[in-house]
Amino acid sequence: MSCHDMISTDGKVHDPNRIDFLDAYLSRLSRVFEEGVDVRGYFLWTFLDNFEWEKGYNERFGLVYVDFATGKRIPKDSAYWYQNVMETNGGSLSGIENNKENHEILFLNPVFTHNIWGGSRLKGDFHYPVTGDDIGECWGVSAHPNGDCILREGAFAGRKLSQLWNEEPELFGNLERDRFPLLIKMIDAKDDLSIQVHPDDAYVSVHENGSLGKTECWYIVDCPKDASLVIGHNAKDKEQLAEMIEGGRWSEFIREVPVKKGDFIQIDPGTVHAIKGGMMILETQQNSDITYQVYDYDRLTDGKPRELHVEKSIDVINVPAKSVENSVIHTENVDKSMLYPLYSCEFYQVFELDLEGKASFEQKYPFLLMSVLEGDGLLNGQLVKKGDHLILPDGFGQVELQGKWKAICSCCHTNI
Ligand code: ZN
Repeated sequence: MSCHDMISTDGKVHDPNRIDFLDAYLSRLSRVFEEGVDVRGYFLWTFLDNFEWEKGYNERFGLVYVDFATGKRIPKDSAYWYQNVMETNGGSLSGIENNKENHEILFLNPVFTHNIWGGSRLKGDFHYPVTGDDIGECWGVSAHPNGDCILREGAFAGRKLSQLWNEEPELFGNLERDRFPLLIKMIDAKDDLSIQVHPDDAYVSVHENGSLGKTECWYIVDCPKDASLVIGHNAKDKEQLAEMIEGGRWSEFIREVPVKKGDFIQIDPGTVHAIKGGMMILETQQNSDITYQVYDYDRLTDGKPRELHVEKSIDVINVPAKSVENSVIHTENVDKSMLYPLYSCEFYQVFELDLEGKASFEQKYPFLLMSVLEGDGLLNGQLVKKGDHLILPDGFGQVELQGKWKAICSCCHTNI
């Protein structure tokens, strides 16, 4: 970098432009190195002011000022600054500091699953680039080995979420967890899903070596009129529960609860549940895939009935079930234009964002997940639209929203 450097009245050479240039340049270099680019070293041209073929002695390039008449040398401010960069091995670069502010929106490319009960609405209504008429699930935010989302764009484009979690922990508030804690799915159920139950962390630690239990919740994105879900059961005690399950008395056992678009349902571990055909659901859950099948309507896949987990189900099902009134939260009176808290448990907090016009809030969580279900608009000047799944990282700061759109957001608690 050339400047017209001069000796100041204090006898020093102040060259802030050179420092700014080198700081920006080396900060970028350090970032691409972190991202895996094969940078072996950096050679700073040039150390001393020198004769340059095109400019002669008219402009100065060095970290050290040279009096061309006498040959006397004076280290410029940039030389001391560079000494500090070397001593801290790049740690003093301001770009490294700036990284901690993390103003980048992390957009994710979802992963899709084919399921016997899946449909075509994720392709048709949400325009995801996926083929097949049996797409049951869109894993919008996931670092699970069965479907690890890839960053869509920006500084981290092409990296897996699990990789980012391990390699850039500051994006997620340096949470001390061994894996990304949440998983966000959209579910398109053309047909009924099997009736199932999930174990909790305590049961899993004994019976399923090392996996997490599963607490999940549903937001009903869309459903037919007079829709219902299976939530809970009608057994009074464990003995009756075992009798009903082992005797196949399903119509007595299963409890169907009427629901409508916009309802929110928390499914604690031990809750018998099933999604019914025609429902489109946004699921927020612990990052786990442990499910015990209670009953699958005697359906056959490739001529065989699905494996059921009768004993484990009876072990983990809560008896009696939580009351119907305590199972469903209606959201029609949600305050528009704010991050409205719908539910909080030890694993996550879920919010609805139903925006019309403008809103702003501070991103003060270790990270905030956002899945856009309707409409489009701007988030800090960037377009967000129906079907987008994104993460606002730690240190994102002020969030400015505009437009008419709806999203379900979530964060995880830091105190466990
Ligand atoms: Zn489930």
